[in-house]
Amino acid sequence: EDLLANEEDFKTAFQYPENVYVLIDRVVAKEFDEDDIHRLGDSIGMAFYEGEGDVYIEVNGEKLLTFNNRFELDGIQFEEPSPNLFSFNNPYGACPTCEGFSMVLGIDEDLVIPNKLLSLHEGAVAPWKGEKLGLWRERFIKAARRFDFPVHAPIADLTAQQYKTLWEGNQFVEGIHDFFKEVEQNLYKVQYRVLLSRYRGRTKCPECGGSRLRKEALYVKVASKHIGELSDMPVKDLKVWFDEAVQSLSEFEKTVGKRVIIEIEHRIGTLLKVGLGYLTLNRLANSLSGGESQRIQLTRSLGSNLTNSLYILDEPSIGLHSRDTENLIKVLKELRDLGNTVLVVEHDEMMMREADYIVDMGPLASHLGGEVVAFGNYDELVANPESLTGKY
Ligand SMILES: [Zn+2]
Repeated sequence: EDLLANEEDFKTAFQYPENVYVLIDRVVAKEFDEDDIHRLGDSIGMAFYEGEGDVYIEVNGEKLLTFNNRFELDGIQFEEPSPNLFSFNNPYGACPTCEGFSMVLGIDEDLVIPNKLLSLHEGAVAPWKGEKLGLWRERFIKAARRFDFPVHAPIADLTAQQYKTLWEGNQFVEGIHDFFKEVEQNLYKVQYRVLLSRYRGRTKCPECGGSRLRKEALYVKVASKHIGELSDMPVKDLKVWFDEAVQSLSEFEKTVGKRVIIEIEHRIGTLLKVGLGYLTLNRLANSLSGGESQRIQLTRSLGSNLTNSLYILDEPSIGLHSRDTENLIKVLKELRDLGNTVLVVEHDEMMMREADYIVDMGPLASHLGGEVVAFGNYDELVANPESLTGKY
């Protein structure tokens, strides 16, 4: 320890700047009382600030402990997790290769091998035919003897390893990927451009494996699963995982995560209630049926606790089992009890039985209808001789 009092001292010391430290505080190691803890807190905070994230603690003049407040391990510095990191709709979190679309334009395996019942020998690899390109197939078949590849077996019967070899090749022979690499080198010739365009298609992004997120987001795991794996689970399995994960939390963690846990439990619970437990969270909205997306909208509305709103639903129970319809009705009633109006176009008896008020449109379907035939609650409607619906 030295006091650098004048310019000369500074010059001497900074000949070896890596040996220069700033001393922030000295303490005697003992039982710390509250004042000590405050003082230590201040000193450590100041040390992190002045040291730009690095702090050294020297113990008894010999042991040097190093600390930093960066998010790093094994020399790799990680992104500090923030909500945006886990959103593929946000440029910060989206996988840079596919930009969050989960698919990239690449070689479509189903176009290259359209018929998985053919063997390599029978010409399963579609582009490997003809006088010149067929040589690729012949070369592979000839070389296959050296690494025990079943050239007469249907592609569908290959093991994962054999299928991989067919695509990636090995030390004896080149595979389909090598073939397309060569094609890409010859794109100045029009026939190769045509060839390539025939086999290009949307394929799963190789960088994120379809999870749409940058890999840093997938480094973050809760109960040993990352968010990509979780959104790949059907909601009913997710519920099981989540309940177990919450149980394994310490009391402290439960307190910290309380609000998030309640929110997630609520959302998962509502998805199950409206009969969507078979869906995975990464399903594309445009792949959902009308009934499914209506019910998802419902869970979202329930989550937002919106009041004084009018919900209009067109046959939301379509395709539901009666147990799920029951649950759906519960959800609709929850919406009502929050102070909303729910208007449902429906033919389902269970739904009508539970309605507060029914307007029966008729007398017959489509252009033969359009008049209000009857109205009232379920019992009134059944008693009304005008109502065709009531009779049923
Ligand atoms: Zn990607």
